[in-house]
Amino acid sequence: MAEDDKREIINDDEEYENICYVCRRPESVTGKCIQISPGMHICPDCMQKTFDTVASLGFDMNDLNRMMGLSNEAGNKVVEKKEEDPNREDPDKEKKKESGRTPNFSFINLADLGNFGSFGIPNSQKLKKKKSKANENAHREPPAIDITNIIPPHEIKAKLDEYVVGQEHAKKVISVAVYNHYKRVTQSENLLDDDDVEIEKSNMLMVGPTGSGKTYLVKTIARLLDVPLAITDATSLTEAGYIGDDIESVVSKLLAAADNDVERAEKGIIFIDEIDKLAKKKNANQRDVSGESVQQGMLKLLEGAEVEVPVGASSKNAMVPMAVIDTSNILFICGGAFPDLDTIIKERLNKSSSMGFVSDLKDKYDDDENILEKVTVEDLRKFGMIPEFIGRLPVIFSTASLTEEMLVRILTEPKNAITKQYQKLLSFDEVKLEFEDGALLAIAKKAKEKELGARALRSIIEEFMLDIMYEIPKDDNIGTVIITEDYVEKKGGPKVIPRDHSISAKAIPQKTVAAEG
Ligand code: ADP
Repeated sequence: MAEDDKREIINDDEEYENICYVCRRPESVTGKCIQISPGMHICPDCMQKTFDTVASLGFDMNDLNRMMGLSNEAGNKVVEKKEEDPNREDPDKEKKKESGRTPNFSFINLADLGNFGSFGIPNSQKLKKKKSKANENAHREPPAIDITNIIPPHEIKAKLDEYVVGQEHAKKVISVAVYNHYKRVTQSENLLDDDDVEIEKSNMLMVGPTGSGKTYLVKTIARLLDVPLAITDATSLTEAGYIGDDIESVVSKLLAAADNDVERAEKGIIFIDEIDKLAKKKNANQRDVSGESVQQGMLKLLEGAEVEVPVGASSKNAMVPMAVIDTSNILFICGGAFPDLDTIIKERLNKSSSMGFVSDLKDKYDDDENILEKVTVEDLRKFGMIPEFIGRLPVIFSTASLTEEMLVRILTEPKNAITKQYQKLLSFDEVKLEFEDGALLAIAKKAKEKELGARALRSIIEEFMLDIMYEIPKDDNIGTVIITEDYVEKKGGPKVIPRDHSISAKAIPQKTVAAEG
């Protein structure tokens, strides 16, 4: 084991709590632990149990003490005894007698155990000590949005606008929900008023096609608020006791994202993706351990409960320390593409619109791309989500599927837009990269055809940028490269303008940089 690793484990970092070596509970739960060797602690309960067990077996307490290296008294006594005994014939015989009473153990030096890495507890499995507020804030950069002094929804949305293109409705809903949620958190913390009006949690359910920016929205809001975020896939969850991750593992992940700081984790955000995969299976005659049961199991988490979760691991076992986390102030956001939900919505809408005097054409909603906007609780129930589950996600909204125009904006507008990233890469070679409007539209059209939302953009650009990134560093004379529509459509090459003549660009004949293929 590397010297550094060893140091990390042995080093009882001031920031972390001590953990009982036997029961693996943190010091804040057990009460003050006793250090029995560097990096090794034992809690009063376990210590007492050990003494009781040993006493009930008829062991001599002095032996135990000597075994654990807690006291030198016993050891001294032996030496004294040896010195006092005038009839001593064979010193080895005496030694054998002593070691016979505590077989094997007398050879173990617990101090050595502590130094031996694998016996220590790594920091990833330790909880952070609670800090005073002032101390905690001193180390952090101020977040864009301070959750203790939350800004109004329109300002939250304005911040989101800098990163997320379009999705106006979704951004509006999420801003209001976050605003309300953190108001509720401050209310419960400060006990601002003592009337009985209790604000309910604003957990959210986001419905939208793949690649429309669901995860991206959540990531952005968590970054702006500077709260820890855990992203989990609902498909990996199973009912406790079955193969797969326990439901509480989502809280474990959040704790890890908060650097094992319980207080910070309790104000974080948990995003559960692919939530539609938990739908009740139709015609299932077996126990549905990864669908409906998981929905059931998540109810108490969503509502707010104290759960005991493993620290630094996804499942509970005897070797993992546990921590208690209160989920009442954790914001849960669930997201999913809900395939075929559109059919359910259309069916409902068609049914209502084909009745009575105001009857409409039967196929009125067939071409509506954003039919998911009209989702209701009833539709989700029909899809297979259980009513108790939907009931705990009161904010239901959808993200729109991306239009070509939105895709073009995604290519160029956000702070870390893909085209900006490539421009930066080429700027290291002192080459300017430009995209013609026609080229951007062609990329957007191609992405739209793939039906993967904004996720397709990157793969399309990477495909044609490969040649450029390969060829340009070869030629020191290139000053500017302009990506044309023809190049994206594979009908021609990009415009290349040499460094010296960049002003009289038009005079220079176009040159194809693309490699032979
Ligand atoms: P989803 O979770 O809906 O399947 P993602 O959030 O993972 O989709 O989106 C994939 C990527 O597409 C994101 O990382 C982001 O870069 C980009 N993207 C998607 N929608 C937008 C948007 N509205 N504005 C800016 N970028 C977006």
